Amino acid sequence: MTIKVNEIFFSIQGESVYAGRPCIFIRLTGCNLRCIFCDTIYAYYEGEDLSIQQILNKISCYTCSLIEITGGEPLIQDKTPALIEALQNKGYEVLLETNGSIDIGKISKKCIKIVDIKCPSSRESKNNRFENIKLLTQKDQIKFVISSKKDYLYAKKILSEHDIKIAGSNILFSPAAGKITPAELSEWIKSDSLNVRLNLQLHKIIWPNKEKGV
Ligand code: SF4
Repeated sequence: MTIKVNEIFFSIQGESVYAGRPCIFIRLTGCNLRCIFCDTIYAYYEGEDLSIQQILNKISCYTCSLIEITGGEPLIQDKTPALIEALQNKGYEVLLETNGSIDIGKISKKCIKIVDIKCPSSRESKNNRFENIKLLTQKDQIKFVISSKKDYLYAKKILSEHDIKIAGSNILFSPAAGKITPAELSEWIKSDSLNVRLNLQLHKIIWPNKEKGV
């Protein structure tokens, strides 16, 4: 019973309501999507097979109670729900970042889910699993990565068409690096008085030249 792990590192949470908090990251190997702007291509195949106990041993050197499981796409590995529960049993607060294409129903209710809804520019919006929306609770978050006005209008349409129960403060609009500026996205949000949160990739501001381990 092993899980393929691409990297484990200690950093600052950069892309959610938790941004700014010290956080242990467990990046799992593999992804079922191929977003055009993917910045973790290195996680598609490379990794080490570890047991849950070996993962617990590796993270025990960090003095931090917040953990994020990310990828790749963590939910393509069937042991991920067990890993989340093992971490929670050890007292960790666990965030799961998922690309939104896979059923989140098997994940512990206590786990904080950060669920992407892919916009058209990613070329993966056909894989959005909208059934996940009704499984979200108030502590969970939805994230749109926005590369263009077309993406912004798509995100707005999704918000109006679905019965989204989580607060606007947990709905993240992230400008895609190099595609639109934070200022442009801010203006669109302001002009529509949209009740969402502008979400900047804090780790890329802190470490602009680092590609892994942030
Ligand atoms: S879902 Fe995430 S890891 Fe997978 S291709 Fe898209 S950006 Fe990359």
